[in-house]
Parts: sequence; structure tokens; C-alpha cells
Amino acid sequence: MSKLRVVVWGENVHESTHESVRRVYPNGMHTVIADGLSESGDDLEVSTATLQEPDHGLSEERLASTDVLTWWGHTAHGEVRDEIVDRVQKRVLQGMGLIVLHSGHYSKIFKRLMGTSCSLTWREAGEKERVWVCNPGHPIAAGIDTSFEISSEEMYGEPFGIPSPDEQVFISWFEGGEVFRSGNCWHRGNGRVFYFRPGHETYPTYFDANVRRVIANAVRWACPRGQWVDSCPNVKNALEPIEVKGESVH
Ligand code: ZN
Repeated sequence: MSKLRVVVWGENVHESTHESVRRVYPNGMHTVIADGLSESGDDLEVSTATLQEPDHGLSEERLASTDVLTWWGHTAHGEVRDEIVDRVQKRVLQGMGLIVLHSGHYSKIFKRLMGTSCSLTWREAGEKERVWVCNPGHPIAAGIDTSFEISSEEMYGEPFGIPSPDEQVFISWFEGGEVFRSGNCWHRGNGRVFYFRPGHETYPTYFDANVRRVIANAVRWACPRGQWVDSCPNVKNALEPIEVKGESVH
């Protein structure tokens, strides 16, 4: 069986500008996310790409041979070139899966695919997050208990400016009282999109076993089911004879 080709995209800026982030992710957040996926099974072929590479590591050729893309960005959303966003959107509509992580809620590609503000409320106070499974039969929740806790995270709260998810898998509660739709699925064209909330850069969230399992499940859920190449042809020749009704128009 051919392996699922996964590209883990990382903005890779905080890791060089903030000591507090470098301490947790000395080799970059993307490498830790990629390691988690690689360790989840030998059915995945995992590689990484970053903002700093030519074409942000997402050339036409690379994207054409990518089944699922994961996306973490925060401080440099504006530096992602629009032509690359167009390219990723096109591939999602064709059938490529996209997993958007944490502050990726404000990335160009997520806002483009959602068509809404994608805004939320937030607070950085190192509080406890309890992630509740609200769809236990969903493949992205496989192997996850009724809930799991992350001891220190940034808070994201409602209202979250997204279109109503096609499938809701997780909802988070925070120590300070807020709740947030933290695991959401959408279909866009032939592609599957999953947003997963945890993953603020100063906390070791991407080492957490439950978080890793969710991302690994999501990648497999988002794998392409066929491919739909966009076109809009004028089909003049009908398969069956068409009966002309009423007066003919010249
Ligand atoms: Zn954050």
C-alpha cells in the first residue's frame, strides 16, 4: 500500500525570535509535529516545509504530490504570498486534506477556505484546558477518552467566527470559564479541512500524547478520496436526444 504523503508546514519565526519558544522547540515546532506523525505509524511519509524556503516550501510539484498538509502560523501570516495561498486552496478543492493548527485560525488559507472572519477571544495566562469529545464515533476521536487535559495553554474563547462545522469533534473548556469549538471539520470541494485548537508556541503541547493522537487521526481522516480537477466545460452534445418543448426559438 502506498504511503500517505504528509507535509508539516511551519512558520518557523518564533523559534528564532523568542527564547521562551526555542527552549521548548529547539529544532522548530514543525519538527516535533512531524516526529509525532512519523511515530504514529509506518503508513505515513512525513516531511516538513517552512515559510523561509523558496515558495515557502510549497512548489506546484511538491503540492501535487502532497496528500495532507498541516499548517501552523502566527506572527507572519501576512508574509505568506497570495500565489501560494491560491495554490494550496486549489489543491484542497481538488482533494488534498488540510489540518489547521491553533493560531492558524488567522492564516490566509484558513480564512480563504472559511470565507468568514475566523476571529475569537484569547488570553495568555497558562491556564488548564479540558478538551471534551463531543462526537465519540468520529475517526478523529479514536483512542481518545471522554476528555483530556492540557495543564497549561493559551485560552481561545467564543464567539469563533467560523461557518458552522460540518462535523464537530471536540469542544474545549478553560480554567477561566470560557468554552471553544476546538475540533471542527469541513468539506471544501473534494477536500477535507480540520481545525484543531491546542498548540500555543510557549507550551510543550505538541509533545502531548493525546494532542499527537488527534493530529495523527486527523491526517488519516483528511486523506484524499479521489481527485476533482476544476473545469467548467460547455457540454453541447447531450448523451440523450432532447425533446424540444413549445415553440422553437431562433
Ligand atoms: Zn497562541
